[in-house]
Amino acid sequence: MNTSISSTRQGTGQEQFLTILSREDALTRFEAALFPRPAQTEKRVLSDTLGLALAEDVVAPVDVPPFDRSNVDGFALRAADLAAASQAHPVRLALNAETIACGTVPQIPVLARTATPIATGGPLPRGADAIVMMEHTHPAGADAIEVMRSVSPGQFVSGAGSDMARGEVVLRAGTVIGSREIGMLAACGVAQITVVRRPRVAILSTGDELVQPGEPLRPAAIYDANGPIVSAAVTENGGEARFLGAFPDDEARLEAAMRDALADHDLLILSGGTSKGAGDVSHRIIGRLGKPGIIAHGVALKPGKPLCLAVCDGKPVIILPGFPTSAMFTFHDMIVPVLRRMAGLPPRIDAQVSARVPLRLPSELGRTEFVMVSLVQGPEGLAAYATGKGSGAITSFAQADGFIRIEALADHLPAGAETPVALFTPQVRVPDLVVIGSHCVGLDLVFSALSASGTSVRSLAVGSLGGLAAAKRGECDLAPIHLFDPKTQSYNTPFLGDGLELVPGWRRMQGLVFRSGDSRFEGRSVEEAVAGALADPDCLMVNRNQGAGTRILIDQLLGPARPDGYWNQPRSHNAVAAAVVQERADWGVTIAPVARAAGLGFIPLTEEHYDFALVSARREQPAVQAFLTALQSPEIHAALERAGFARAG
Ligand code: AMP
Ligand code: MG
Repeated sequence: MNTSISSTRQGTGQEQFLTILSREDALTRFEAALFPRPAQTEKRVLSDTLGLALAEDVVAPVDVPPFDRSNVDGFALRAADLAAASQAHPVRLALNAETIACGTVPQIPVLARTATPIATGGPLPRGADAIVMMEHTHPAGADAIEVMRSVSPGQFVSGAGSDMARGEVVLRAGTVIGSREIGMLAACGVAQITVVRRPRVAILSTGDELVQPGEPLRPAAIYDANGPIVSAAVTENGGEARFLGAFPDDEARLEAAMRDALADHDLLILSGGTSKGAGDVSHRIIGRLGKPGIIAHGVALKPGKPLCLAVCDGKPVIILPGFPTSAMFTFHDMIVPVLRRMAGLPPRIDAQVSARVPLRLPSELGRTEFVMVSLVQGPEGLAAYATGKGSGAITSFAQADGFIRIEALADHLPAGAETPVALFTPQVRVPDLVVIGSHCVGLDLVFSALSASGTSVRSLAVGSLGGLAAAKRGECDLAPIHLFDPKTQSYNTPFLGDGLELVPGWRRMQGLVFRSGDSRFEGRSVEEAVAGALADPDCLMVNRNQGAGTRILIDQLLGPARPDGYWNQPRSHNAVAAAVVQERADWGVTIAPVARAAGLGFIPLTEEHYDFALVSARREQPAVQAFLTALQSPEIHAALERAGFARAG
């Protein structure tokens, strides 16, 4: 798509993106403003050049090897002397009175019908033209040998310059220096080479809310993730990263910092503050830093729409979106090509595999969308599960094996579609055990025990029903589920289909949570607490999402009542606890371990059964057996109990 999509300006204090470029357009314009440009080069000692691009051809200054050299342990001699040698008629040669070791300069010429002992790597003496191996001779007295076979001239000899000849180009400009290249250059005596200098990249985070890792987190603040990620990604792609810290959204301070950074770096990368929201100032500063200024602000990418690309007096200035996953995708897709080109490195080639998407993936029309995926082995090849939890989530990185691209013209990828997956690492690691379904902190205790004993685990949180579907398709070994069947008034068993069996897990006590000391709840029964909460107009609840087991419980407690806070419906146990701790709500329902970890008061309600649907055909797999054994071990039972879970049964 090479079209520009225009949107209207809104008078809300937030400027809208006036022109959104397609990904291809933005990249083409950015590269056209930067290239061609002369490479910055520097001389470096050989040992300091790993990963850098050679800036000039390297010509061998000497022959390698520098002299004719023996390739074996044996005797230097004249091939003509052995023309008639055989097992039946060995030829006798007199030994010269020297032995040529490595580094020994031969003194005695090899005359006809003589031989000189020589070691692998020894220089060929004058007069000799071949080597016979030690094994094909035997001693004949103290100062002669007998040779049982003939040799051709040049046998077991490497001629001077046969490896690299003096004056020959041994490495071409543009070659990326690896250990093999370093070895070649060392072998011909090169101690220094001219390489493309690593581009110096200044990295700067922006946002009033940012705190550096290691510092205490103040209320409403978050840790700066982009600074460390971008710095590492710059290093991975041949740049010299210098992180300058996080700056508040203060135009004057930020401008001073950006000017300083540009003065002694080749590139400037910021993150955050590009949304054209109130308080987002960096894109305004860029206009004053140099020509031509902003090339693209707003690119049809998802995640990553607010990306801002600029060139100021020949130097790239980039503002990455604030959300770490958006920052990473735009960095890899739009910045890495430019950074590598400046570093003289070839374009990055990501290893690819083909996989099937088990679930339909909706996508926004008009934006190139990147979706991080986790791979699991199904019966008919790899299946790719989306790991993203929205552009604000960062955990998706650790879980993901790679990503898929949904083109701007597609509005979804259908379930079952075969699609290429670009891998983050060159190989797919197939885990020993695959667990797909509902997640629970108790599960982490079992997984830790398994990892400690060398079983690798992949766990994907897709909810109970998603897990059951994956188990039925044979994409996992186990699906953790907690599904209540109102008809039979029982958990989990009614949901198992053919080929699945129940492995009992543990019980999670559900209860009403409140801040300790709140007299509306402290010391009361469930009925009293709920009645009191409903009677108090100042009392605010937090609900759960439709479909959650906890939501069914809450609806039973409330009956027809819809108290204030009912429409606040977060998707996790932890979000309920956080809402109550941070006084955004006064009560909610969550599980005991989460309540305990958050330091909340707790009135028990009922036990939820958290069990496993096991794919029967996989029962005998060693990793499944290891899981079942761990699940039954006294250590795990004790750990689960300490964390607030109860044994099944
Ligand atoms: P912004 O583009 O500044 O509006 O930021 C968008 C979102 O990304 C906000 O939720 C920010 O708090 C978040 N964010 C911005 N910078 C960072 C950073 N360095 N690390 C983690 N999150 C960030
Ligand atoms: Mg910001």
